[in-house]
Amino acid sequence: MAGRIIDWLRSGGSEPASADAELIARLTAAEAANEAKTRFLASVSHEIRSPLNAIYGYAQLIERGEGKDALAAARVIRRSAEHLAHLVEGLLDIAQVEGGALKLNREAMRFPEFLRQLVDMMQLQAEAKGIALVLDHPPGLPEFVHADPKRLRQVLINLIANAIKFTDHGMVTLKVEYRNQLATFSVIDTGIGIAPEDAARIFAPFERVGGAAGERAGVGLGLAITQALVHIMGGEITLESTPGAGSRFTVRLMLSQPLTPPTDPAPEAGAVTGYIGRERWIVVIDDDTAHLAMVRGLLEPLGFQVRTATDGETGLALAAQVQPDLVLCDVALGEESGWDIAARLRRRHGALLKIVMLSGEAPDSAARRDDGPANNTFVMKPFDFTVLLDVIAGELGLEWLRAGSAVPPPASADAAVPSFPVGIVPDLSRHCSEIERLVRIGHVRAIEAEIDALAALAPETAPLADRMRVTLDSFDLKALAQLAKTAVSHAR
Ligand code: ADP
Repeated sequence: MAGRIIDWLRSGGSEPASADAELIARLTAAEAANEAKTRFLASVSHEIRSPLNAIYGYAQLIERGEGKDALAAARVIRRSAEHLAHLVEGLLDIAQVEGGALKLNREAMRFPEFLRQLVDMMQLQAEAKGIALVLDHPPGLPEFVHADPKRLRQVLINLIANAIKFTDHGMVTLKVEYRNQLATFSVIDTGIGIAPEDAARIFAPFERVGGAAGERAGVGLGLAITQALVHIMGGEITLESTPGAGSRFTVRLMLSQPLTPPTDPAPEAGAVTGYIGRERWIVVIDDDTAHLAMVRGLLEPLGFQVRTATDGETGLALAAQVQPDLVLCDVALGEESGWDIAARLRRRHGALLKIVMLSGEAPDSAARRDDGPANNTFVMKPFDFTVLLDVIAGELGLEWLRAGSAVPPPASADAAVPSFPVGIVPDLSRHCSEIERLVRIGHVRAIEAEIDALAALAPETAPLADRMRVTLDSFDLKALAQLAKTAVSHAR
């Protein structure tokens, strides 16, 4: 429409008056914005489609039993889902930035360590393209500075990722200088460079350079987000570039130093591998069988006894039979309401039973009852596993065993290792002792084979084998040896 009006104005024959010229300029700008939006939507749907295809394809292969290596397929699916999540996050960032709602969380962060981790993170990407990624900073950088690590990381990752993407030979350098509270970050590459006429527009949302550069994957959001973040942090970003020789993006930020060094934050917790205490029983009620399988797959390896039901009545019967410690109940159970089932569970089992509701929709006021909510907690789907585990630990008062932390000896705490049928004890002890021995010599393949043999012994050994696999996957051989030792002493 705007295009047609512009054509009409232009075809007027005579030189347009200044009002017309202004109108043409505005319409041209509006048309450009509109085109950019259309291009953006096309790019976004392309960006969404490729990971979605990977998820769809691999899921079907696994479903048909043709996925040779289910673990590798699961990794592709997880990575694709993560890519989608990042894309959504980027779009939300743009919306937040444009709406002025983005908030910074400044904290005292370890500066040189932050930079090292960042470069380590991007190293693989650079190696995959056969180029070097180098961190260059003087020795005297302050140990701590005040900054929002999430947003600063986002800025630098965007710039480094671009530098790697648009460089085919040579190297990318992250150079960091610090003087009088002013931090200067330069991301320097030896890539294709940017023509002077493109230098300003690449910072605009959805703008990408045509030609060879434009053919590389991307949605043209990175630099727009980066520039907006730098401005929100009170800094500036500049670009110097020579086509064919390389580019240098420079970010200048005031990052003050804390007066006193902060106390060290707690080290990051390792993956949960089990829990301390007696075995806990969990009933899961959900009409989505894929969801049931997923929750079972998450909880059983940690040592929980899990029973599942696809409808409320079966769930109630199961709960009556096994007297679980916790029920995870979906809100929308086909025709039934999960809230009704929760209320009936509460009436039958009393306050001791913990009930956690799961739903794809936020709880509404209709769910609240006069006699108080039947459930203890509510978790929104899709959920991060760690969120669900936090909720379960909170409700059941559990203390987790984690990869990397020593498993408490069974004498001081009854680790959640189930008791085993007497008939399998000799074999169980043999496999576990062998695993202990193999861990000492670090023979991973043989350890895997022993764990498989252990899993095949009896249904009771499968959860233990799964927990061992978790420790092996995270190369926590110490925890694995401890699990094997604990199991042997429990079996005797
Ligand atoms: P995307 O990388 O998703 O296309 P960006 O907003 O991050 O989006 O970048 C916009 C454009 O700027 C890129 O498409 C590319 O043309 C150009 N560009 C960004 N960084 C570089 C660089 N280091 N070297 C050459 N061109 C670059």
